[in-house]
Order: sequence, then structure tokens, then C-alpha cells
Amino acid sequence: RLSEKFVYEQRSVNSGGKIPLGLRRKGLRIVVTGGAGFVGSHLVDRLMERGDSVIVVDNFFTGRKENVMHHFGNPRFEMIRHDVVEPLLLEVDQIYHLACPASPVHYKFNPTNVVGTLNMLGLAKRVGARFLLTSTSEVYGDPLQHPQVETYWGNVNPIGVRSCYDEGKRTAETLAMDYHRGAGVEVRIARIFNTYGPRMCIDDGRVVSNFVAQALRKEPLTVYGDGKQTRSFQYVSDLVEGLMRLMEGEHVGPFNLGNPGEFTMLELAQWVPYYVEKIDLTDILIVVWTTMWYVVAITNSIDKYQVWHHLVGKPKVRFDPTALVVQETIDPNAKIEFRANTEDDPHKRKPDITKAKEQLGWEPKVALRKGLPLMVTDFRQRIFGDHKEGSS
Ligand code: NAD
Ligand code: UDP
Ligand code: UDP
Repeated sequence: RLSEKFVYEQRSVNSGGKIPLGLRRKGLRIVVTGGAGFVGSHLVDRLMERGDSVIVVDNFFTGRKENVMHHFGNPRFEMIRHDVVEPLLLEVDQIYHLACPASPVHYKFNPTNVVGTLNMLGLAKRVGARFLLTSTSEVYGDPLQHPQVETYWGNVNPIGVRSCYDEGKRTAETLAMDYHRGAGVEVRIARIFNTYGPRMCIDDGRVVSNFVAQALRKEPLTVYGDGKQTRSFQYVSDLVEGLMRLMEGEHVGPFNLGNPGEFTMLELAQWVPYYVEKIDLTDILIVVWTTMWYVVAITNSIDKYQVWHHLVGKPKVRFDPTALVVQETIDPNAKIEFRANTEDDPHKRKPDITKAKEQLGWEPKVALRKGLPLMVTDFRQRIFGDHKEGSS
């Protein structure tokens, strides 16, 4: 095994006893289970970029080869089609364990959390690898405490339709802590809150992917229940940064990794289609507006400057079209279709991220208004090919 200690020592020798920060822990052999999925593939990109050797283990239940195929041919990249419910023998330094159907539509049919996690912990124990579990905010169930702090034990129905997921992840956390305490496995536990971004499964039933796809297809947006339930949405790059900091750090966790910005599903449904409809035009307008502002401001005469200032005002947000759109958010004409809510749906959810801020030096940077456009671009390409909406 290319141990962590060995890597540190090598770096140390190569750099005259000092380990340059940028080089720390580069070149490890890392397994990412579920690495062909949404979060996993973004994590793989970052690890490859850092210079690690990455083995993706995935059974493609919800993941896609397309998410990682840009690494095919790179000698540091390997891919194994494998179900983590079956044992797996590998020699590695770190295991990011993400494999698990993560949307309500899928996890009801595939309760693999427990056995898969046990196997990957067994692997970590055998080779002495560090093991990171991607747990979930679902461990808090329908929380009676708000926002949720890591010390809260949750309010979970053990026999409901969601139980294979939330109780499965709770058991996975228990297993991880047992392997940590009992077998000395170095574990890290992340409790991930709702995450969105490019490469999300288009039709897996999660709310952001549903709304974006529905808005692009000009279908009514399906709001479950009264839409007053809340969620907090985190952009995927923030999550990946948090996962890597957690893996590299000295703290076991659990850590909440999420964006504390909280929305009702109704607010989200009213905002998403508005954005999708308007962004292209607004983009153009704001660029013209700000360019004219600067041209007038720079090219002189106070008179012209003041006339322009009087007429249109100073741009509130410069070169940031998405932020401007958000200032006008709600679209009262959005077509919304109410549907019956799913059983045991949590009423509210918002992470308290004090612990991650203090111990990992991490906090999310990408607001919904910034992240959503990136996701819309990706979904538009995947739904309509190269054509823009309406042109196909
Ligand atoms: P995803 O469905 O896109 O990715 C999961 C990946 O695991 C897929 O590639 C799938 O094919 C693979 N997989 C599923 N079962 C497997 C099995 N038995 N063996 C091997 N591979 C298997 O979901 P995601 O959103 O990328 O989620 C990744 C992890 O993060 C999951 O563990 C999930 O529980 C956790 N998480 C995600 C969110 C979120 O909002 N995305 C929130 C909380 C927790
Ligand atoms: N396991 C695995 N790969 C390994 C080592 C173990 O998949 O490299 C699996 C093993 O098959 C078992 C699980 O991990 O089902 C737990 O292993 P552990 O050694 O902790 O338990 P034991 O096999 O002693 O019950
Ligand atoms: N939801 C919705 N419309 C949809 C899909 C989901 O209103 O088309 C609601 C769902 O009932 C839940 C919230 O959005 O209250 C978040 O659902 P998601 O499945 O994305 O995540 P999770 O329930 O795991 O937080």
C-alpha cells in the first residue's frame, strides 16, 4: 500500500523537509464508489485534476459513463462496473463511498445502503484506507429542530417508504463509527443536504431537476403538497470542496455540508421558470447597459455622465446578469400543478454549518442564482441536443 505516511515522507524528502501546501497528499490511489453519478463525477474531476489515481466503482444504476468518459484513456483513471453489494478487492489509500441510489424514485427499489457500506468498510479495514461516507440530511428525518445541528438525533420513521434510505444511511453511519472505534479505520462522515448542478439525472424525480426539466419542456411544474415545505440547495462544486476538505482533515464528523439558503418549494417553482424564460434576453440587456455605462462614464464629459446617470441610474450589479434577474424573482404567472405529497416528506430542512466552518474552514460560495444557470445550460444541451429550446 502506498501509505499516506509514505506519501508525506516522499514529499518531505523531495522538498527538503517542507511539504508545500499545493503538493500535500497528491498522487494517492483513490476509489470513488458511485463515481459515475452526479456528485461522484464532479469529485472525480477534482481528484484527477489534483493528480491522484482514481478508480471509479459503479453499477450504472443511476450513473452514466458519459459523466466520466472525458477521463477514458488517462492512465491514472480506471473504471470498474461493479455492485458494491458484492465484495471487492482493491489496494487503495482513500475510499469516497458515494454508491447509493439517492433519489426517492430510485432508492425505494434498491435498498443497498447497508451491505454496500459494510463491504467498503471491510475493504478500508483490510488495506488501511481512509473511508469517507456520504451520509445525508435525511438522517434528521422530519426534523423537530431547525436549523439542524449535527448533535440532533433526528425524527425518523423506521418503517416508512423512505426508511430504506434514511434508516439505511443512519445504519451506514453506525457501521462507520463501529469500524472506526472497533477496528481503527479512519472514517469521515458527511451529512449532505440537497445538492444540484450539471449532470444531475434528468428524470430522477428530485425537485430541482424536475423543475428545470419541466420549465425547459414548457410543462407545468409539479409541486407536491402545499409547497410550503422548505429545502436548502447547495451547488455541487461547494459540496465537492467540502468532501475533499473533510477527507484531508483530521476530524471524523459528522459534518453538515449544505447551503443554509432556505426556500419553499413554491418559491422555487415560481422562480425557476421565470429564470429559464428570461435569462437570454436579460443577459444581453445587462451587458449592453453596463457597457454603455462605462463608456459614458469613462469617455468624459460630466454633462453626458450626469444625463446618463439621471436617465438610467448606476447599474446595481455590474457584469452579473444572473444576480440582476434574481432582483425580480417571482413570476406570478408560472404554471404550477399541485400533486399529492409523498409519505413522510420532511416539512423543513436547513443546515447549521457552524461546525464545518470552524473545523474544516468550509462554507458554500455559490448562491442558487449563480448555480442554477449552469445547470440549466447543461439540461438544455441534454434535453434538446445542440439546439436551443423551441428551435428543434
Ligand atoms: P447519483 O444517483 O447520481 O449517484 C449515485 C451513483 O451510485 C450512481 O452512479 C449509481 O449508478 C451508483 N450506484 C448506485 N447503487 C450502486 C451499487 N449498488 N453499486 C455501485 N454503484 C451504485 O446520486 P448523487 O446525487 O450523486 O449522490 C451521491 C451520494 O451522495 C449518495 O450516497 C447520496 O446518498 C448522497 N447524497 C446526495 C444528495 C444530493 O442531493 N445529491 C443529498 C444527500 C446525500
Ligand atoms: N470486504 C470487501 N473487500 C475487502 C475486505 C472485505 O469487500 O477487501 C467485505 C467482506 O466480504 C465482508 C465485509 O467487507 O463482507 C466486511 O469485512 P470484514 O473483514 O470487516 O468482516 P468479516 O469478513 O470478518 O465478517
Ligand atoms: N418536490 C416537489 N415537486 C417535485 C419533486 C419534489 O414539490 O417535482 C418536493 C418534495 O415533495 C420535497 C422537496 O420537493 O418536499 C424536495 O424533494 P427531493 O426529492 O428533491 O429531495 P428530498 O425529499 O430528498 O429532500
